[in-house]
Amino acid sequence: MHTTPAASEPALSLPKACPEPVEGRLALSHLAPGTVQSEIRAMSVACDQMGGINLAQGVCDTPVPAQVEEAAIQAIRDGHNIYTRLDGIARLRNAIAAKQQRDYALAYDPETEVLVASGATAGLHAACMALLNPGDEVLLFEPFYGYHVATLKSLRIDPVLVPLAEPGWALDTDTLHAAITPRTRAIILNTPSNPGGKVFSLSELETVAEVCRLQDLFLVTDEIYEYFVYDGLRHISPATLPGMRERTIVISGFSKTFSVTGWRLGYVTADSKWMPAMSYFHDLTYVCAPSALQHGAAAGLEQLPPSFYTELAASHQDKRTRILSALTATGLTPTTPAGAYYVLADASSIPGKTAAEKARNLLAATGVASVAGSAFFRPGRGENLLRFCFAKKDHDLDEACARLRRLSST
Ligand code: PMP
Repeated sequence: MHTTPAASEPALSLPKACPEPVEGRLALSHLAPGTVQSEIRAMSVACDQMGGINLAQGVCDTPVPAQVEEAAIQAIRDGHNIYTRLDGIARLRNAIAAKQQRDYALAYDPETEVLVASGATAGLHAACMALLNPGDEVLLFEPFYGYHVATLKSLRIDPVLVPLAEPGWALDTDTLHAAITPRTRAIILNTPSNPGGKVFSLSELETVAEVCRLQDLFLVTDEIYEYFVYDGLRHISPATLPGMRERTIVISGFSKTFSVTGWRLGYVTADSKWMPAMSYFHDLTYVCAPSALQHGAAAGLEQLPPSFYTELAASHQDKRTRILSALTATGLTPTTPAGAYYVLADASSIPGKTAAEKARNLLAATGVASVAGSAFFRPGRGENLLRFCFAKKDHDLDEACARLRRLSST
């Protein structure tokens, strides 16, 4: 560290022997050359360029609940525009703790066990910074959500993929056991999942929990689609399983539930042992989540009735029905998702050697953007799949479905 000499001290003379100059210091980091724009963002850009309908990115452009919107606007007017406590405003931490109690009978102390994060994405990053070391291995289920893998890699943590079995993306216990090595530290689990729409069953979660307990692993759960569960299924928060609360880092957020993906608001709930370090690393990158918007999310949690959440699931189940029918009619045979709001469809009938080519060809032919399935699998897998997001306004979804149907008649 450089220090400035006190005014009375004589100025330091330059060292006689400067170190030999080293070439190549003006260079990218070791990781940077391997980074590429995600397929999801690339397809969104291509879609915008041609004025298409974007079923690629999970932007979720359905309306924001009025209570959430009004409270955020009011908070700006009331002067809630400055930094908040590093783990968020008390009102929102209390509301999150109350929600976890209401929905899952999980007790978290709002003073010490809730972190309001700048999105679930920031929550995961802070958790990895606080709990894992470079060279650790973390298990993820494949198909996976790209940000999970990329976040680990950016921190020099090694993702290890555990393939789920088709049909239905079932968990095979032996495959899970076989993936564990002495370097394994954690499992990341996303339920309901993106992109497969898998809702982990109780017995699958018990298997995962048993492995975590036996091997002394963290379980990091991304539950951002907790309210998007269909056909009467129930979301189970893995922290509720015996012996799991202490080792489970629960990550969720408001992007999807309140249709505010651009607000960057999420949260982490976890045992107080882990929270100071997670809050520290979140502070380092984000300082705090957007202040006024925290009031909007708090108002939503406080005021929206239980029917809001059941209607959210029902309206998305209806959207799911529409897209499944259009995809089937077009010959893009879909797998029915049990949760979340994405469909993986078989794109064998679309020209193109790779899924990325198929996605671009489909966009050119219909003006409907999807994402190459290969974005969610290890290299070589997913090349015959496309992912479609159905969290769209009904009008846009219907237009996209009509365009897809027209493809079948050409
Ligand atoms: N987790 C999953 C599984 C997601 O699909 C997404 C959005 N695509 C996120 C997290 C992002 O959440 P946030 O906007 O809260 O960062």
